[in-house]
Amino acid sequence: MIIANWKANGTLTSNLAWCNELNKLLSNSDFSDIGIAPSHIHFTQIQKMFEDSSLEVGLQDIDFNGGAKTGSISASMASDAGCKFSLLGHSERRQLFNEDDDLIKTKLQAAISNGIKPILCIGESKECLKSGKTRDFLKKQLINVLSGIELIDHAVIAYEPIWAIGTGNTPAPKDINSIHEFIKDVVQSSSANNIEPKVLYGGSVSHENAESFFGEKSIDGALVGGASLKANPFADIVKIYRKVKRK
Ligand code: PEP
Repeated sequence: MIIANWKANGTLTSNLAWCNELNKLLSNSDFSDIGIAPSHIHFTQIQKMFEDSSLEVGLQDIDFNGGAKTGSISASMASDAGCKFSLLGHSERRQLFNEDDDLIKTKLQAAISNGIKPILCIGESKECLKSGKTRDFLKKQLINVLSGIELIDHAVIAYEPIWAIGTGNTPAPKDINSIHEFIKDVVQSSSANNIEPKVLYGGSVSHENAESFFGEKSIDGALVGGASLKANPFADIVKIYRKVKRK
């Protein structure tokens, strides 16, 4: 799966233009395995654009419950609006909004019980990488959130090294592949029902480097930030994904 994470970007007008362009660029109208995570305020508009296609429109975050929580969107509200998936625990949410593993766990549970596919984001900092503790750190993030949880069989983890997000730096594809194998093992042994998840890579994916990632067996797709803001490079990434994975 290839997911566009638009973050807090776009206007109503620019979003419509993006969708129309994607429709033209992917003229075979096959939108399976594509997701878009627009801002909450643009969600319904984007969803309408693709309501007759298999493209999935999701959210960048959801709250675990509703009620007296000014500014929140609960999982049940998101589900009612047709949200198909939600990013959870993106490093920007962890850093800028102080989200910790306990909170992310409650969001993940709420997503699953409301029929929303969780895309759990994990990833190490540069300091962690340098100290050689990446695997320990990722394992801790996964176990803290997933232990005891009955995962749905299409659960997704997004491996996003913080130092690779928006920087143009990426790990080597074979190193990502090896981390993804590790993530699959940890998830399978820590979730209550031993599900092997799909694992997406995120961090400076572009139409120039996408092929090198998708050639790796355990890289099941990408979470794309900057390169998803224009339809053209995003469509190119989707085309490369389909060509390499022969979809
Ligand atoms: C992201 O923030 O999820 C992301 C992958 O960003 P970028 O592609 O810009 O590195």
